[in-house]
Amino acid sequence: MHPADPRSNLWTHTVAPGPDYPTLEGERAADVAVVGGGFTGLSAALHLAQGGADVVLLEAGQPGFGASGRNNGQVIPVYSRHGPDDAVAAFGPERGERLNEMVAGSADLVFDLIRKYDIECEAVQEGWLQPAHRPSRLRGIQAKHDQWAARGAPVEMFDAPRAAELTGSPIYHGGWMHRSGGHIQPLGFAKGLARAAAGLGAAVHGDSPVQSLDREGDKWRLKVGGGAVRADKVILATNGYTGNLFPNLRQTIIPLRSTHVATTVLGDNVAKSILPGNHGLSDTRQALWAFRKERFGRIVTTSAPVFTPGARRRMTASTIRRLNIAFPQIERPEVEYVWEGIIAMTYERLPRYHELASGVIAALGYSGRGIALGTAVGRMMAERALGKPAAELALPALPMKPWPMHDLVVPFSRTMAWYFKWRDSRD
Ligand SMILES: Cc1cc2nc3c(=O)[nH]c(=O)nc-3n(C[C@H](O)[C@H](O)[C@H](O)COP(=O)(O)OP(=O)(O)OC[C@H]3O[C@@H](n4cnc5c(N)ncnc54)[C@H](O)[C@@H]3O)c2cc1C
Repeated sequence: MHPADPRSNLWTHTVAPGPDYPTLEGERAADVAVVGGGFTGLSAALHLAQGGADVVLLEAGQPGFGASGRNNGQVIPVYSRHGPDDAVAAFGPERGERLNEMVAGSADLVFDLIRKYDIECEAVQEGWLQPAHRPSRLRGIQAKHDQWAARGAPVEMFDAPRAAELTGSPIYHGGWMHRSGGHIQPLGFAKGLARAAAGLGAAVHGDSPVQSLDREGDKWRLKVGGGAVRADKVILATNGYTGNLFPNLRQTIIPLRSTHVATTVLGDNVAKSILPGNHGLSDTRQALWAFRKERFGRIVTTSAPVFTPGARRRMTASTIRRLNIAFPQIERPEVEYVWEGIIAMTYERLPRYHELASGVIAALGYSGRGIALGTAVGRMMAERALGKPAAELALPALPMKPWPMHDLVVPFSRTMAWYFKWRDSRD
């Protein structure tokens, strides 16, 4: 089965059953239309409904069809590349610290929503680990740790022997832990957000790709097959799956295909020896090695980039080699699922928020860290649509900045993973 086929994805096989949402039929009015049913759009719809708005969510597939239903499930309340001091340097002390506060609280937001709306998604909030794959990476980790610690975040450093205890792997040189992180069954979280939003009165529509967005008088008209929504405000939450709905938005990010792999269910003793505290782990490699256990005792991990013919077989082989290095206690690892999703990369590895036209806002570009952050940004956009001034938001509204020669760059974007791997090897 091709990795793009949703049936190749572990999460579609282990998610709690839930309803499919109907295609939009006919014309209807709304205060706000949300395009995209991932964490960003679903969180926006949920918080809008909570705030009393009449909201319609339109998703091309079903909720969680995009990256939100295909990721590693690690809930991580820190930036992928930067420390909080960088946010202050980029956006100034007031805005930067507001953004830091949003990021720091983003994992708690996810787990609070899960508890509040009783979302069945295998939620585990035992902390997130970032171990160093080279001793040289400890300096950067220490700096991030110190910056977050100075802001009161529940973080701690650990040395190499403790890294071995926490990870169950002999390969790490120390690292840091963020105690408010954790992991979830991501498709379950997406479906749970959809159910919660619908329960509060949001109209959730699946199999409803928005084909056009046009100004009609003082409203926006979103056309979907035989139906349409006329809305005062529009939130675009299409991230790596952004098409041509709004001119030039697609060109602001690089859509990067990322492949994930799940092993077969491990024996009890071996499973217990890996990440025994049930933490999530993403190490310091640029071509990331990420590991977490899921409910039944499979390891879910990133796969090495292979895009040539026979990719699935070669990805399986390289993942097995990687598992042999990281967790030699798995005697003969076997791969059960291989799937892919699209990450939206920005040049600066921070999400971008845009006010595109009167009443139309968008956020995208989490660069592989959008579970917690996307949920928080969705709430932020709901607040904006409910009337909060732009100046009071955590993210500044930036003008769109297309990547130079975007359409030429995208076909080569897969080589970025090889480039990151090469950088890691030279570290
Ligand atoms: C393999 C992989 C592993 C990852 N692992 C992690 C991780 O462990 N931790 C972490 O924090 N992040 C991770 N990420 C990133 C994270 O999944 C994303 O940042 C997050 O899910 C983005 O959510 P979103 O709602 O913005 O976008 P998406 O979930 O991608 O949703 C966008 C949606 O928009 C819909 N859409 C697009 N165009 C239209 C249209 N015209 N009409 C209607 N609908 C439309 C799409 O169908 C899609 O469902 C990973 C990503 C991938 C791909």
